[in-house]
Amino acid sequence: MPNGDCIFCQIAAGEIESTKLYETDNVVAILDINPVNPGHTLIIPKKHSVNLLDADEVILGEMMAATKKVAQAIVDAFDEYDGFNLNSNNGRIAGQVIPHMHWHIVPRKLNDGLQLWPGKEYKEGEAAEIAERIKIKLA
Ligand code: AMP
Ligand code: ZN
Repeated sequence: MPNGDCIFCQIAAGEIESTKLYETDNVVAILDINPVNPGHTLIIPKKHSVNLLDADEVILGEMMAATKKVAQAIVDAFDEYDGFNLNSNNGRIAGQVIPHMHWHIVPRKLNDGLQLWPGKEYKEGEAAEIAERIKIKLA
């Protein structure tokens, strides 16, 4: 169901301008307005959901197929790009600004300054405890 106040619903419906790269029945790919690197693209489902957790799984599959196609095209279009990051911020605490499901294809080139997150270490036995706690919720 479209959400009249939602900028990505409006972009998907063509009511707000965007630089569109690719479109299927359920998905649109547009250039991010503030790119990390040129060609930084957003993959957006046309149907409103807030984030990954309430998204339709069939549409998620279509988003991923579109992601593969568009990411390949971005990397092929520029000699300097050798890879890309696929990133999705889910929830405000995770940095999600637009509460309409989407993910980012961020093309990467040498020395572009983008840093990935730092890793920490688990204490002895902690990984098993954490895994158990999550697996109970998966059962
Ligand atoms: P986030 O919700 O954290 O994934 O961030 C939203 C992303 O949407 C940011 O990278 C913005 O630059 C991008 N964005 C916001 N408004 C527009 C717009 N009208 N067209 C294209 N990209 C947008
Ligand atoms: Zn929306």
